[in-house]
Amino acid sequence: ITDKIAALPPDANYFSLEFFPPKTQQGFSNLQARLSRMAQALRPLFVNVTWGAGGSTSAKSLALAELTQRSLQLTTCLHLTCTNMSRKLVDEALEQAKVLGVRNILALRGDPPRSEEYRDPNNPLAEEDDSNKDFTWAVDLVRYIRKQYGDYFCIGVAGYPEGHSDQSHPEHQSVEHDLPNLVEKTEAGADFIMTQLFFDVEAYIDYEKRLRAHESGLFKTIPIIPGLMPVQSYQILRRTTKLSHASLPPDVLKRLEGVKGDDEAVKRAGVNILCEMVEKMRGNKSPCARGFHFYTLNLEKVVTQILERSSLIPPATPVIRTADGNDVAEQAV
Ligand code: FAD
Repeated sequence: ITDKIAALPPDANYFSLEFFPPKTQQGFSNLQARLSRMAQALRPLFVNVTWGAGGSTSAKSLALAELTQRSLQLTTCLHLTCTNMSRKLVDEALEQAKVLGVRNILALRGDPPRSEEYRDPNNPLAEEDDSNKDFTWAVDLVRYIRKQYGDYFCIGVAGYPEGHSDQSHPEHQSVEHDLPNLVEKTEAGADFIMTQLFFDVEAYIDYEKRLRAHESGLFKTIPIIPGLMPVQSYQILRRTTKLSHASLPPDVLKRLEGVKGDDEAVKRAGVNILCEMVEKMRGNKSPCARGFHFYTLNLEKVVTQILERSSLIPPATPVIRTADGNDVAEQAV
């Protein structure tokens, strides 16, 4: 991913799309057809495949990564969590990712460790060798991947423009509280940062500004990719923002509440809101966002409208910058 970003002309925008593995075979077939349409029509720089906390979707996530990376030849970033599952499962996932040609991992913690429950022999996910104690935080997974695989994987980590909060410590939700952790994850070898979804663009701009100016110098040039969730319905929006502790600015809430009984009107208002967010972030002088990550919820229509209206879809033949500084179609090089 970082190689692909570096190969873009410096002022070019890019975007990624996130998908989760469907539960049923029918759902998988539907997504397969949709993904193949989206790959052709939208040309994302890369796609993300989520991982169920505790390894609950491991086989399905790997099957989806196989589809995106191998069959559709989309640069794929596989999410991987490390708590509440055995080291064996982590090893298998990384090995399988390598076999599939996946070169990018988003290293995450997952749910807070539940050690006592984990050691319960009645828990089917419990491992006899108890090796999950190797992983308490995402940074442990970043270190582990670097130790086992050197530079083979490009590693991303999660960032939180509005702070991070575990259910057990909601009072800790602040950027101040989470920043030392992001420093640690980056020092351990993270190559890019992908953020939690947000609707408060000012909070994101402040966050990126703060990271870029951080005294460690660690975040000066690292790709920071803001996470955006297209609005699919008023109920989904309220549920996901609550779960992710993302605030809804009053004007955003007002526009959506005004039409909340009409799903199509909510989607239309959502497309306007998302397009304005993209415009504000890339129009901002410093920092100026280049890349955007979309939590698609496996849906096609709304994200397509946002990408089209924001002119984020790249030309069918990619433009790259040559050594002498000219932007040319890739095939011409
Ligand atoms: P960490 O970086 O480990 O941080 C977790 C918390 O612990 C933070 O509050 C941090 O400040 C604190 N902390 C970290 N290190 C220390 C320390 N040494 N001492 C004290 N406190 C510390 N979940 C899934 O299950 N599957 C997914 O596919 C998935 N994808 C995601 C994608 C993105 C872009 C994001 C933002 C989140 C995703 N999540 C996913 C959710 C994620 O697993 C949760 O947000 C989780 O609660 C935290 O993960 P993390 O990697 O940020 O953890």
